[in-house]
Amino acid sequence: MLAHPARYSHIIRYLKWTLEELFNVLEFPVELRLILAGQSAIFWAPPRELSLVVQAGGVGSYNQGAYYPAQSFKHVMQSLLRKIKEQPGCRSMLSTQITRIELAHGRAQSVTTANGQRFTAECFLFDGDAQLSLNLIGEEHFPQAFQQKLRYEYGTSVLSVYLGLKDIDLRRHGFGEYNLFWHPKVDLNEVYADQLSDHIPDRPYFFCNAPTLRTHDAALAPAGCDQLVMVAPCRYDFFRRLREQNEDDYQRAKQKYADNIIGVLESEFIPGLSKHIVEKVIGSPLTNEFYVWAPQGNCYSTPMSPRHVNLQRLNYKSPFPNLYYVGASSCLPGFATIIHFACMLYEKLTGDSVYCDPGAALER
Ligand SMILES: Cc1cc2nc3c(=O)[nH]c(=O)nc-3n(C[C@H](O)[C@H](O)[C@H](O)COP(=O)(O)OP(=O)(O)OC[C@H]3O[C@@H](n4cnc5c(N)ncnc54)[C@H](O)[C@@H]3O)c2cc1C
Repeated sequence: MLAHPARYSHIIRYLKWTLEELFNVLEFPVELRLILAGQSAIFWAPPRELSLVVQAGGVGSYNQGAYYPAQSFKHVMQSLLRKIKEQPGCRSMLSTQITRIELAHGRAQSVTTANGQRFTAECFLFDGDAQLSLNLIGEEHFPQAFQQKLRYEYGTSVLSVYLGLKDIDLRRHGFGEYNLFWHPKVDLNEVYADQLSDHIPDRPYFFCNAPTLRTHDAALAPAGCDQLVMVAPCRYDFFRRLREQNEDDYQRAKQKYADNIIGVLESEFIPGLSKHIVEKVIGSPLTNEFYVWAPQGNCYSTPMSPRHVNLQRLNYKSPFPNLYYVGASSCLPGFATIIHFACMLYEKLTGDSVYCDPGAALER
């Protein structure tokens, strides 16, 4: 962007703006603001925090179409793993924790796993949350300014509810190949403020969709059954404190939160929903943290605010010449976005071409 300021002037001009600032300039009424920002769940930030450029990019991209893998995300992951294993000399090791990254002469030299295995390499890609590299490498090895850059705050976490449903036609209740965004109030800033305070909202804000109406994969649900997924932004600290005080209180809070979401669905959209529930799995911010090592259960690394999405944002470069960051914290969140940035890095490091359209590739 800095190399071609004229081409990107429209982005540079609005980089510091929030969505709220645009709404204020245009004096939009609160109802219109909700409609225009109603997909805020794809960024988990209210208009007064959300970067205008992120909103414009995200909504612009969704307006050209949204995509779901034909055979589920699990199938995508398994295909990627299979491809890695097929390459000569390559393998993947699942459930293997890296506990240390060792340096020599200012370069990354090896990684050590929790069970004491050590691997050396010419080049390392780090896909965990970039802030975690401070401890794995030792913060004393990072220049002060880079340490500051890595000490970013984390964005919102969520409570997720997965329902297995039987003998119900969700299409009859208005569901299809799209997301439902449910808001308990018209003012979206207030919605977030309520939701992220220290309590369980009676009528939570959430988004919802039915993966089984999008793709036919036996792994999602058996024949005659459906899957319904609800996701609500919530406060990590609230659940963390509860669990530290008392495991039962924590488990009860998870159930209560999920029941309140199901209550809204039942009263507003699917009368009798509870009778069709045969499976219920609930994930809290602590679940996210445990399973994918997303610090504080964050969904999208940093908040998507102008304070974090700007020209100073972390990118693939680390202070060590043969260690590169990939993933949400070092580019931007999102499945396709992360793969796109990783492919550009691959091209840069290897000279191979991944993209058919050379214009889409990173300028070397
Ligand atoms: C509820 C929810 C819904 C979402 N919906 C969408 C959507 O519809 N579309 C979309 O595009 N994006 C969506 N996203 C965002 C998207 O999932 C993330 O941006 C993306 O998965 C982040 O990828 P990543 O590679 O940066 O991190 P991750 O996918 O979290 O991968 C990082 C991996 O590194 C591992 N790791 C960390 N530390 C170590 C270590 N020391 N040793 C070994 N391994 C380690 C972790 O276990 C983890 O597996 C959603 C996110 C959430 C939470």
